[in-house]
Amino acid sequence: MIEQLDELYRDVILDHFKNPHRKGELPNAQIKAEGANPLCGDELTFYLTLADGKIGHARFTGKGCAISQASASMLAEQLEGKTVKEVARLIETMKKLMRGEAPDESVDLGDLESLAGVRKFPVRVKCAALAWNIVEQGLQNGVRM
Ligand code: ZN
Repeated sequence: MIEQLDELYRDVILDHFKNPHRKGELPNAQIKAEGANPLCGDELTFYLTLADGKIGHARFTGKGCAISQASASMLAEQLEGKTVKEVARLIETMKKLMRGEAPDESVDLGDLESLAGVRKFPVRVKCAALAWNIVEQGLQNGVRM
């Protein structure tokens, strides 16, 4: 499937897959959240620390297809320094993008934007969304807002 993505996007995704950013465990994480996409065999665990209502450090571990692992790497990179509300907006914007709705232009997606082409492949949207769903649920369960 990755061969069918636009070349530019494909390269960004493969780069994150081969050289993931923020990969590893955080022993002092206040939030640990995990999930899986059994359809594809993707597994991810996110580790987050919080300080002053913001994400301090974000790390992830996992295995699976290029889309799922690249999405986790891109998201982890975007999380550090963001408030819980900003993270919620970022994730909502990605979900809108996947549904084909107009995304919030004021949200900086960073490399996550390269996943926009995945929406043409509905089965793969689950791969991309795994990381977003895990972080969203982890923050909802672990943070009193
Ligand atoms: Zn997958």
